[in-house]
Amino acid sequence: MIKEIQLRVNLIEEKQEHILQRKAAQFLQIDRKEISAVKVLRKSIDARKKKIIFNYKVRVYIQELPTKSPSYSFQYKDVSSAKEIHIVGFGPAGMWAALRCIELGYKPVVLERGKKVKERRRDLRAINQEHEVNEDSNYCFGEGGAGTYSDGKLYTRSLKRGDVRRVFESFVYHGATEQILIDAHPHIGTNKLPKIVENIRETILKYGGEIHFESRVIDFVITKQKLKAIRLHNDNEMPVERVILATGHSARDIYYLLHKKKIGLQAKSFAMGVRVEHPQHIIDSIQYHCDGNRDELLPAAAYSLVAQVKERGVYSFCMCPGGFIVPAATANGEVVVNEMSPSKRNNLFANSGIVVEIDIERDLPKYEHFGVLKGLEYQKNLEKLAFTAGGRSQVAPAQRLTDFVEGRLSTDLNVTSYQPGLNSAPLHSLLPKLIGGKLRVGFKAFGQKMRGYYTKEANIVGVESRTSSPVNIPRNENLEHPQIEGLFPCGEGGGYAGGIVSAAMDGERCAEAAIVGY
Ligand SMILES: Cc1cc2nc3c(=O)[nH]c(=O)nc-3n(C[C@H](O)[C@H](O)[C@H](O)COP(=O)(O)OP(=O)(O)OC[C@H]3O[C@@H](n4cnc5c(N)ncnc54)[C@H](O)[C@@H]3O)c2cc1C
Repeated sequence: MIKEIQLRVNLIEEKQEHILQRKAAQFLQIDRKEISAVKVLRKSIDARKKKIIFNYKVRVYIQELPTKSPSYSFQYKDVSSAKEIHIVGFGPAGMWAALRCIELGYKPVVLERGKKVKERRRDLRAINQEHEVNEDSNYCFGEGGAGTYSDGKLYTRSLKRGDVRRVFESFVYHGATEQILIDAHPHIGTNKLPKIVENIRETILKYGGEIHFESRVIDFVITKQKLKAIRLHNDNEMPVERVILATGHSARDIYYLLHKKKIGLQAKSFAMGVRVEHPQHIIDSIQYHCDGNRDELLPAAAYSLVAQVKERGVYSFCMCPGGFIVPAATANGEVVVNEMSPSKRNNLFANSGIVVEIDIERDLPKYEHFGVLKGLEYQKNLEKLAFTAGGRSQVAPAQRLTDFVEGRLSTDLNVTSYQPGLNSAPLHSLLPKLIGGKLRVGFKAFGQKMRGYYTKEANIVGVESRTSSPVNIPRNENLEHPQIEGLFPCGEGGGYAGGIVSAAMDGERCAEAAIVGY
């Protein structure tokens, strides 16, 4: 017999051998010897109270042995001589669009401006150490897209947009541990992601797809509202029938190109702010009600915060426990911060974006003359401001959290994980009031929700500007641009995803849409 049950295990019990069998026997009121196996289906930690609880969903096998569950099967076909679908961009959206094309019997031809994942590393080193941004190869551009050198958090709120489980299983097929299928807040880690990305590349090539690196798309050839060819940076032209455009929200040249060609775009609301960095032990002691030395069984603690400031959302975004702040600029002359962490999340810092909603309809009157690109230009200006305030390199402007809120320049800063370094700057007066003013109130509110969060031991670092796309590339019910036949806007750059998993799911959907009638 098989039963699925929920179990609650405290921290002391968690360290005991066979605890799940014992708890299951107790729960089911049977002898422990009758249980042949217990399989964990889901695990989460409830640390709301002082007594920390591990919540398990388990499958209990009673007087019967588990059969090896069939692994999720992906039916990849040989597509070497199949009809081609061109995919611009090899981030999560582009990768999963390519994999889905292969399952559906179509040949993906991928064009990616950046380099292969290993070669990309050299360019990341150059950003961190020489403050030199390669505009085709950086934390956002290159094999695996913006998701490769990240935290690899796989949570998504877009559960209705596609098959989350399929994406997770595909990660496992390509080398992720099965733990991601169990954890309530799964993550992979930046040390493991590159290998998974390489394995995805291998699958695509093995089944006959093509991937062209260092191939930046610079133009679309359109005749009578139909996409006929794409032009590359070296002026080579490729005839195309169907193109999935998965260039991410940092590919500003693509938005400019579409705008110049009068291909419809829409301005979209987004969010911007700063990253706040605490010593991890402070967050651990708040979240786990301890003195800073968390129990060895507990992962680096995370948090999620939201406050309403004058009817405006101020919230934590992309919180990264045990990680690093990284320079995520895609051009010289700008400073943008983001995060990444190793699989063990064992760095000494906890950082998180803290951002303010920007309402595109009413917040940017001075930018109206930029039309649909007003949000993008506003975002760009803030990144330039951070560049100048940091000292005109990848050094980022920063302030102690308490100094920022109380409105004074920091005489010194806390140590940081941000490799290019920090420069003390009066962010309280430099940031537009729309953002800075709301953040200051928001941080105070967060300090009340999490006692100890509001501390001079935290820095704020500017700027967290690329939370989501400030532009939407419209598409109709067939996921095709309403004006241009054969163009399928996809992923985060189109405005249809916000994270690795939702981008991957959108990639799959676009592949399914692109083959219709082809
Ligand atoms: C440092 C960092 C950490 C992050 N951490 C997480 C996390 O932990 N969890 C999470 O869910 N999300 C995270 N994100 C966000 C996540 O990475 C993105 O939401 C996701 O990658 C979007 O996928 P995408 O495929 O739509 O676009 P992208 O990943 O941006 O990929 C777009 C690709 O298109 C290529 N490209 C752009 N222009 C052109 C062109 N003209 N020609 C050819 N190729 C082009 C780019 O080089 C890039 O590889 C993080 C982002 C960053 C930058």
